[in-house]
Amino acid sequence: MSLAGCFGCHMSFLDIDERLFALIERVEFDRSPLTDLKAVGRCDIGLVEGGLCNAENVQVLREFRAHCKTLVAVGACAINGGLPAQRNHLRIDELLRAVYQQRDGLAAGAQVPDDPELPLPLNRVHPIHEVVHIDYSLPGCPPSADAFWQFLTDLMAGRTPQLGHGLMHYD
Ligand code: SF4
Repeated sequence: MSLAGCFGCHMSFLDIDERLFALIERVEFDRSPLTDLKAVGRCDIGLVEGGLCNAENVQVLREFRAHCKTLVAVGACAINGGLPAQRNHLRIDELLRAVYQQRDGLAAGAQVPDDPELPLPLNRVHPIHEVVHIDYSLPGCPPSADAFWQFLTDLMAGRTPQLGHGLMHYD
């Protein structure tokens, strides 16, 4: 699932290309951006892209953690907040006003959105390990398709994932 992510980690997962066919022979997908399931069921493996930037992210992550035997922080954002955490040295209220009220080209009277349906932003962007226990991290922005494949192959075989030198990177 994607929290404060850019969907790039999911795209890199899809870059395993034809190996997806071998994968779907062996696994069933639960809630995911690739399925239409709205609620998460019991899962063996949960892959989380993105850090936590708003209240809904926190709620979704907690629910996901409760349903997954093994939870994996996928990509820089989930592991350490990633590039979105560059906003952490700024004040969120000032950021919102700058974007929604003070930017050039806005309609007169533009306001920061405050509909209760919208999740409240957190003051800071957090990596997911600050809120739930994670079992593994798969680094990279994004991790390569080969890294995904090696990682998942190991996990499905019951092995502790081992990424060789060429598959482990943080950029
Ligand atoms: S780690 Fe990189 S690719 Fe993955 S969600 Fe974050 S910004 Fe996107």
